[in-house]
Amino acid sequence: MTQSREGGDVQTGRVKRLSDANADASPKVSFDNGGEFIRQTRRDVEEYLSARRVRARGRAQLYAKGVIAFAVLLSSWLMLMVGHPGVWLGLLSFGGLIFGTSLTAFSVMHDANHGAYFRKRRLNHLMGWTADSLLGLSSYAWRVKHNVAHHTYTNVDGYDADITQVPFARLMPVQEPRPWYRLQHYYIWFLYCLMALRWQTIGDVAAFVRGTIGNSALRVPRGWDLAGLVGGKVIFVSWAIVVPLLVYPWWGVVVAYLVYSMVVSLIMAVTFQLAHCVEEADFTSAEQLAAERRLWAVHEVETTVDFCPRNRVLTWSLGGLNFQIEHHLFPRVPHHRYRAMRPIVRAFCRKRGLAYEEASFGRALAMVGRHLGAMTAAYVASRSARAAVLPVG
Ligand SMILES: [Zn+2]
Repeated sequence: MTQSREGGDVQTGRVKRLSDANADASPKVSFDNGGEFIRQTRRDVEEYLSARRVRARGRAQLYAKGVIAFAVLLSSWLMLMVGHPGVWLGLLSFGGLIFGTSLTAFSVMHDANHGAYFRKRRLNHLMGWTADSLLGLSSYAWRVKHNVAHHTYTNVDGYDADITQVPFARLMPVQEPRPWYRLQHYYIWFLYCLMALRWQTIGDVAAFVRGTIGNSALRVPRGWDLAGLVGGKVIFVSWAIVVPLLVYPWWGVVVAYLVYSMVVSLIMAVTFQLAHCVEEADFTSAEQLAAERRLWAVHEVETTVDFCPRNRVLTWSLGGLNFQIEHHLFPRVPHHRYRAMRPIVRAFCRKRGLAYEEASFGRALAMVGRHLGAMTAAYVASRSARAAVLPVG
């Protein structure tokens, strides 16, 4: 493994803003590259990864897991479509469909679209196309939304599209309070359930029309990218809606499709929330970053939290995304390496005085609850403060 392979534009901190025409009014956001912290950490991680024993075993594990994910997905779907299952076997197969989809998304699609699954870019794009064909989301748009907007500008208001949910929810202290956010800790879970449905229907198209995701430019795809987008949507609609309509009544397909997409969305959203949307994570704005330059690697550690690092079943099921600090520092390292990289990254964080946050599942969920509550409380506090200075009568 070389530094250029594991260290792409995002990872090395070459993170000049990509957007242009649509973001003229926004302050320019950039981070400082390198720094002793990430240089030393990278050197030790590369030394660990370059050991022959680690290299040989790792790829086999990664691809075997991919085969399992596809097998669960395909066998569950075939059982539902041609197996004429009874109620219990039908429910089990439906659960398998949801599990197989999540496993493919976390353990194959996510790695591939980061360029971590294969050594060749084209093969990664081909495997990343599982986002289009199996999840119904454009992998072309996803690479901008996730790799650029989220991984480069983590928890930066207006730039990280995942944390910028205004006017529906307030996830960062710098965002303007609104009266309805007082109830956000109740309704936000329902909104998260609609996430996949939104991207499968109008989300991709709206982003292409707008030309941006967050503050990052999104160009309309052409050539093979356009063919992949259209072909992926056709395949997704075929297996998820058209073929089921040939077997089941329309209302059953509608209900099953809604439940399927909502549960998959919720699993993905909760995984994101536990890693970034907690009191212990840092949040910032473009204005604050313009006033105080930061090292990109330090920013990533401060805006990210690990959870359940000792739970091997969860680690396997979530594609290592409970090791979010390791993933954010080394997004082009395949996910099955994160657990072994953890002691190296944690030791360097502690040596440099950086808070390496990790929590159990229960504690991480409580941290999310406290954060959503704090954003609500901040609304009440700011309203009280305004009332105190407004003239009465
Ligand atoms: Zn990622």
